[in-house]
Amino acid sequence: MEYSMNKIKIDQSVLNKIRCPSCKEKIKKLNSKLVCLNKKCKKTYPIIDGIPILLDKDKSLFRVSKSNYKKESFFYEPSKNLFKTFIRKITPTISLNLKAEENYKMFSKALLKEIKKPRVLVVGGSIVGSGMNRLFMYENIEFIETDISIGDRNQIVCDSHQIPFADESFDGVIIQAVLEHVLDPQLCVKEIHRILKKNGIVYAETPFMQQVHGGKYDFQRFSLLGHRRLFRCFTCIRDGAVGGPGMALAWSLKYFLLSFTKSKKIRTFLDTFSDFISFGLKYFDFYLINKPGSLDAASGLFFLGRKSKICLKDVDLIKMYRGTNF
Ligand SMILES: [Zn+2]
Repeated sequence: MEYSMNKIKIDQSVLNKIRCPSCKEKIKKLNSKLVCLNKKCKKTYPIIDGIPILLDKDKSLFRVSKSNYKKESFFYEPSKNLFKTFIRKITPTISLNLKAEENYKMFSKALLKEIKKPRVLVVGGSIVGSGMNRLFMYENIEFIETDISIGDRNQIVCDSHQIPFADESFDGVIIQAVLEHVLDPQLCVKEIHRILKKNGIVYAETPFMQQVHGGKYDFQRFSLLGHRRLFRCFTCIRDGAVGGPGMALAWSLKYFLLSFTKSKKIRTFLDTFSDFISFGLKYFDFYLINKPGSLDAASGLFFLGRKSKICLKDVDLIKMYRGTNF
């Protein structure tokens, strides 16, 4: 993962599309706060460091205030210890995303084919996801990045269960490695469907065979058909594995070792040790990633699809199984 400092300012036309996350009515800036114009709601939302914090306290698990705003993100953890930073730098990674770049290219081309300047919402965009740098090369695509905390990139803080935008505001939505961390993925995908324009495109990546990461904020895993069902009101352009069985095995080995102890020191050692002994497993995925068996054993899966009025029926969903587990 990389961290980027190029936060882009959002323009007025995007601000006009912002809605109250609670009631979806219009909001207005008033004394450095955003106030819902719905007289029955009247909820207020702070602006911290120029970033609207559009979290509904009654519905969202997350809080962002002036004093805590860097603490809620569970990924961005730069260490001050130089030795630790050095070890982290020389440790090989056990993860390998083999499809994101290719998929992002497809996502962008599909958007640019029909729209001159498409607008894309990135859900969970406070850090740059795997392969996403490829996407940011397209200058004609306008990205609005959101997350549940203030990161280096996101212009808005919101919860994907209550996306604070008007219906049909975006041409595309990206949700990479986020749906495992939400309490109600059905609701999040419903929100994505709502804010997408007619025929809008969604790209999602979600873990399948991965152990708990993000501690208490980890709630879901999906098989290929489970993931497809989540996006049943979209037509599929392409879906499949992004990380293969080799990566899944390396993760399993790591968590197998980690399960022996609660000691933080030993766990830190085992964590790094397992990276060194099993990073090679991910290279098997170059060979395995497109094999049908991989769909039953993948580390992570993707779905690229288009908003549709028709939803896939469950009887048709099960006909789509293309793994090898008969
Ligand atoms: Zn409201």
